[in-house]
Amino acid sequence: MDEAARNSTFPPFYELAAPPAWRAVDFISDLHLCAAMPATFEAWAQHLRHTTADAVFILGDLFEVWVGDDARHGAFERACVDVLAEAASHRLVAFMAGNRDFLVGPALLQEAGLMALPDPTVLQAWGQPVLLTHGDALCLSDQPYQAFREQVRGAAWQLDFLARPLAERLALAAEMRRASAARWQMDGDASADVDAAEAVRWMHALGAAEMVHGHTHRPGSGALAPGYKRHVLSDWDLDGGTPRAEVLRLSRRGFERLPPVGR
Ligand code: MN
Repeated sequence: MDEAARNSTFPPFYELAAPPAWRAVDFISDLHLCAAMPATFEAWAQHLRHTTADAVFILGDLFEVWVGDDARHGAFERACVDVLAEAASHRLVAFMAGNRDFLVGPALLQEAGLMALPDPTVLQAWGQPVLLTHGDALCLSDQPYQAFREQVRGAAWQLDFLARPLAERLALAAEMRRASAARWQMDGDASADVDAAEAVRWMHALGAAEMVHGHTHRPGSGALAPGYKRHVLSDWDLDGGTPRAEVLRLSRRGFERLPPVGR
């Protein structure tokens, strides 16, 4: 690890070592759970209940939108919390925020039994460091989105937003959803991809030859540069036209892509 790089030009990151007894870790992201997607919710719940993995790492955009932890008392949100808490009583469930659910806070994390993962995190598992990130911070070509991201991740914006009544925050979220088509302004340009040079710079500095990210909804695995491989997670949608849902599993054997349990 390059200490100078760690301290100057990189976002603060977190290192997590998989216990030696672990046999498998599941990565998922971009579920975009909401009450209007019951089949997606059910597949996710089944997977969390029945996966044989020792840990499930949720790498962002678990929720279609999260307007603050006081929303956790809603009927659908309560059902999600119950699934998470039940799963977390059997295995580690870790959560990294995405661009839709960056307002998840300590109350939800605590009630759902989630371990919070900063973005990025380096997971040390079976002798292999793997860089974990939601991915939106690396979509550098989308400058308007990066400016938006910097604003909404800032304390001033968040204090102002969270001070509004819950009903107003929910109405604002619904309005944003109506105002755009398939993706939201808060997603940025859907054609943007992770900047390969910047991603390799992160991986090099953090000593990771492999990276897992979501956000782009373009699942696949491939080299970003010689010696640097990335695995892009699938989004989940079992309520729309083209059903898709996938788990990326890491074990001693390496990475594999699996359907959710029961599908
Ligand atoms: Mn995203």
